[in-house]
Amino acid sequence: NADIAMYNAKTNGRNNYQFYDQAMDQEADKRLMLETGMRKALEREEFRIYYQPKVDMVSGRVTAMEALLRWEHPELGMLPPSSFISLAEETGLIFPIGEWVLRHACLQNRAWQDQGLAPVRVAVNLSGYQLQHKGLIATVRKILEETGLDPMYLELEVTETVVMQNPDFAVAILNELRGLGIHISIDDFGTGYSSLAHLKRFSVNTLKIDKSFVREVDINSTDAAIATAIIAMGNSLNLKVIAEGVENEGQFSFLRENKCDEMQGYLFSKPVPPQEAAKLLRGEGLKIPETALAELSI
Ligand code: C2E
Ligand code: MG
Ligand code: MG
Ligand code: MG
Repeated sequence: NADIAMYNAKTNGRNNYQFYDQAMDQEADKRLMLETGMRKALEREEFRIYYQPKVDMVSGRVTAMEALLRWEHPELGMLPPSSFISLAEETGLIFPIGEWVLRHACLQNRAWQDQGLAPVRVAVNLSGYQLQHKGLIATVRKILEETGLDPMYLELEVTETVVMQNPDFAVAILNELRGLGIHISIDDFGTGYSSLAHLKRFSVNTLKIDKSFVREVDINSTDAAIATAIIAMGNSLNLKVIAEGVENEGQFSFLRENKCDEMQGYLFSKPVPPQEAAKLLRGEGLKIPETALAELSI
């Protein structure tokens, strides 16, 4: 591993520089292999979209399916976005890949609706590069037209950090997207230091509490304070609040008692391929904790 090699090289003197160089070469090789592979991955249809439900805490129903990208690499197996999204951003491949995700998520949602399933939103994650791209609005409009999906069933998730890098710009573009009738969520909320003044100007629909605050929400008083503050702020600004990364009943109970509107996480379902997502939409396999069943009107 490159870090260990670097450590050895620095501490043990000259002989180890060779080892260090080798490790560096291996890293560079892997990067090059991913980069050339990624250029062909679209035409070879190696990208997959997994879907993870968002669950409403009043009705117990699915409100949206979040599209989460995977790359089924011929040699390396199923790769998570953390292993290739930043490379896609550095190479500009994020634009065709992002457009592919948007189109296929919208097509999938149309197909579910055409099958007669109760309509839900499909939520697509947007990279900061996509948000700043001049053609974004035109691309979104084109895809909505092509797929015939009603804009109210498309949701775009943008991370708070990206929004706060250039709030004035973000306000303008998010307002324009909202103008199309699309649902907008601020992802990983709590990590990007939004000021209340900015929040007031964003015409967004939902704040998504970052999973780093959810992990210990029921046992750590600081995380509990942050989560309840976000919920209170969302309520007073008329925004929905969702918690991501809900894994256990302790987190679930705390968030439900504190009136978090929606939840998402392994407790309900992990991200699944389209076939399994359709089952979840039919109400099969969605795990709702026993303790909640009595109170939820389902
Ligand atoms: P995100 O949008 O904040 O998505 C949440 C991540 O948490 C997902 O990881 C999801 O699989 C994972 N997760 C869901 N429930 C739980 C849980 O209960 N516990 C834990 N520990 N984790 C949970 P994933 O799929 O690896 O995606 C990571 C990130 O990659 C996403 O974070 C998103 O920012 C980005 N990403 C995913 N798909 C796309 C895409 O199509 N385009 C772009 N630009 N970014 C994407
Ligand atoms: Mg997301
Ligand atoms: Mg998130
Ligand atoms: Mg997150």
